Amino acid sequence: MSRIGTPSFVEHAIKEHKFNTKKWYGQNFLTDANILNSIVDAAEVTKEDAVIEIGPGLGALTEVLCERAGFVMAYEIDHEIIPILKKNLIGFLNYHIIEQDILKANILEDMERHLKEYKHIYIVANLPYYITTPILLGLLSKKLPIQRYVMMMQLEVANRICGKPATKEYNALSIWVEYKAIAKKVLNVPRTVFVPAPNVDSAVVRLDLYDTPPIMVEDEVLFNEVLRLCFTQRRKTLYNNLCIKYDKNFVLKMLECLSISPSIRAEVLGVKDFVQMSDYITHNSQK
Ligand code: SAM
Repeated sequence: MSRIGTPSFVEHAIKEHKFNTKKWYGQNFLTDANILNSIVDAAEVTKEDAVIEIGPGLGALTEVLCERAGFVMAYEIDHEIIPILKKNLIGFLNYHIIEQDILKANILEDMERHLKEYKHIYIVANLPYYITTPILLGLLSKKLPIQRYVMMMQLEVANRICGKPATKEYNALSIWVEYKAIAKKVLNVPRTVFVPAPNVDSAVVRLDLYDTPPIMVEDEVLFNEVLRLCFTQRRKTLYNNLCIKYDKNFVLKMLECLSISPSIRAEVLGVKDFVQMSDYITHNSQK
C-alpha cells in the first residue's frame, strides 16, 4: 500500500523541502493509492521481475514497485527532486536512480549493467506528458528486451494508441503501436487525483510487445516515414499525401499493384496495407 501516494504526503513533502513543482517537466504527482496499485496490478509485476520507471518524481509509484518487483531502475531528469525521492524511499534497497533525460539514455547499456539477472523486464510509469509520443516512438524503435509497458498518459494519446481504423483517433501512432504490440486501455484516471492537477484527464495503457511482429516490414525507419507521410493531412486522400514525397506515377503504380484505391484516406487502411506500401517503396523507389 502506498504511503507516499497520498495528497497529504505529497503536499507535506513539497512544503517541507520548499520544492517548486516544475510544470515544464510535467510534474503532476499521483496521490491515489488505489490507482497506484491498479497500475502495478495491470503490469502483473512479481519479485522475479525488474521494472524500468520513467520519472519517479517523489516516489509514489516507485514505492509500490519496490514492494512488488525484484528491482526498479528509474530515470529522473530533475536533479533537485532526487534527494527528496531518496529520502522518501528510505528502507528500500532494490532500486537504482539514473539522473538522466530518458530521451538521451542508453537504456540497453543500463539494462545490461543493472537488470542482467532478470528475465522479465517491464516499463511501468506515470509519464511526463509533454514527451509521451517521443518516449513511445523512441522505446518502440529500439528493439529492447522489454516485454510489457504499462504507462499512464493523457487520455487523448491513450485513445489514439488504442484507436481502431476509420475512427478519428486512428493515426500514425496507432498503427506504429499496433505493428509492435497488443494495446489495451486498462484505466481512466481523472485529473483530480494529481497534485498539482494537470489540465487534461489521463488513462493507463498496457502494451504487450510481440517477440516478432505478426506482419514484418523490411525497413522500420521507412515504415515510420510512410506512416507519417500518409497522415500528413487527414482530410487529404492517401494519393495526395504520398505525392508530397513521391512521384505521381510511382504512387499510382504502387497503389494499383497493391489494390488500394488512390481516393481513400489513410485512416481506413490497416497495418498490413502500410507494411506493403513500405516494402514496395523499399524495392521500387529510386530515392
Ligand atoms: N512517478 C511520479 C508520480 O506518479 O507521482 C511522478 C510522475 S510526473 C507525471 C513525471 C516525472 O517525470 C517527473 O518527476 C519529472 O521530473 C520526470 N521527467 C520529466 N521529463 C523527464 C525526462 N525527459 N526524463 C526523465 N524524467 C523526466
